[in-house]
Amino acid sequence: MSRTICWFKNDLRVDDNPALAEAARAGAVLAVYCVDGGFAADSAYGAPKLGAHRRGFIGQALVALGVRLRALGVPLVVAVGEPENLLVRLAKANGADSVWTAAETAPEEADQLTRVRAALRGIDVALHATRPNTMHDRADLPFDLDDMPRVFTRFRRRIERAGRPTRPIAAPSRAAGLDPVDYAGIEIFDPADWSPTGTLFVGGEPAAQRHLADYLWRSQAVTHYKQTRGQLTGENFSSKLSPWLARGCLSVRRIADELARFELEIAANESTYWLVLELRWREFFHWVLARHGGRLFARGGLLQRRDRPRATEAAVIKAWRSGRTGMPFVDANMRELAATGYMSNRGRQNVASYFARELRQDWRWGAAWFEAQLIDYDVASNWGNWANIAGVGTDKRDHGFDVLAQAHYYDRDAEYVSYWLPELEALPRTLRHTPWLADADALAATGYPQIACLPACWQGLARNGTGASI
Ligand code: FAD
Repeated sequence: MSRTICWFKNDLRVDDNPALAEAARAGAVLAVYCVDGGFAADSAYGAPKLGAHRRGFIGQALVALGVRLRALGVPLVVAVGEPENLLVRLAKANGADSVWTAAETAPEEADQLTRVRAALRGIDVALHATRPNTMHDRADLPFDLDDMPRVFTRFRRRIERAGRPTRPIAAPSRAAGLDPVDYAGIEIFDPADWSPTGTLFVGGEPAAQRHLADYLWRSQAVTHYKQTRGQLTGENFSSKLSPWLARGCLSVRRIADELARFELEIAANESTYWLVLELRWREFFHWVLARHGGRLFARGGLLQRRDRPRATEAAVIKAWRSGRTGMPFVDANMRELAATGYMSNRGRQNVASYFARELRQDWRWGAAWFEAQLIDYDVASNWGNWANIAGVGTDKRDHGFDVLAQAHYYDRDAEYVSYWLPELEALPRTLRHTPWLADADALAATGYPQIACLPACWQGLARNGTGASI
């Protein structure tokens, strides 16, 4: 029987995992996860690439993956080092003749795959990259990637006309595990050492599947998704699927398939349609990144604008990151992010807009902070959304969010800001979105900062009470 390695990265599941399915077909499997330099590295924008929330979530997901794989008979090795070295050593020591893994789209990850392929070729081992966690295969897209519609609405229409996403594949019911394993002197890592940080999300495939079942079938909260998705707080105002999707504890095809079954068996309405539409945004940014690559990360972005702010003022960036800009709606969201590793879509849009357009900082420093903090960090979705808000992405319209109007509209009674900024409780509720209107001594006594940058929309609030959006 031939021997093979399944290299796990952001696909920490056994269900609908084509790399695992192919490896199991090919022979006796050794599953490998590499804790490489990226776990400790800083980005070029003064932030770690991986913060404690996501690390804790990955740790939990790896522990759960180990249990699922063991039940199949497949051992999981979590080891410290660069994959191009570890995989070569493990393949050599265990006589593996192939390595299976998911394909990568983002430049750094794709470069890593190229390095691994070259290193394995040196010992005559083939690297096979299977489809990533997308609804559609590249070959099934109803357009050439080079001619991909630039605007989401056109992309969505073409995709919708092309029909349902390809069905997911089941987890292998049986697999032969490689036994015994020669660890070749590598440094084994125990993922349980990455302690969870007290966030609401539990990493791993079983928790993901429980959450999906709960969101669709038990609570049926999906049936009012369209009405609640813009909210800021609460358990099921949006699906909260993103952390598990981003780490691959769930496959997007499984979600789409379950949702289609829900529509057949329980209810199909605007809300169930809207959830699929949002998943198509994820798909859109994936293919945007596949089409445009590194250009998505340039200050001028896909539109190559030369007029975007270049500033990277340390004090301004620090105030924004730590939730001390003096603009409560922004600060509350930023403190939620720091405390939990999650922020609502509404919050993300507003804090990004404030950073790039009111504070006028280089938007990439904001995107990199999200990269560090978000449990659900996804290269394409994060940088694609940030680029759009900075006016350099796929959307040629160039206007941001009226942060103050949005604060008043979505947090009418200032409950959200009062929760995350408890110091504001000393002020009357009516001033908690605009504390700079309070008496200077009263504001100073709260310890909350005086606003450094009054939003341009401050003047516009009287004109427009509901908040403009991009
Ligand atoms: P739901 O509203 O329930 O949506 C369901 C799913 O659809 C999400 O899980 C996600 O996979 C997808 N989705 C929804 N909205 C978007 C969107 N605008 N773009 C792409 N996919 C979307 N999402 C990430 O998964 N990772 C990121 O790193 C990320 N960074 C973002 C940065 C900014 C500045 C902004 C404005 C948005 C970002 N998003 C990102 C998109 C969106 O905010 C999150 O997907 C969503 O808030 C996650 O919560 P949910 O699963 O409850 O979303």
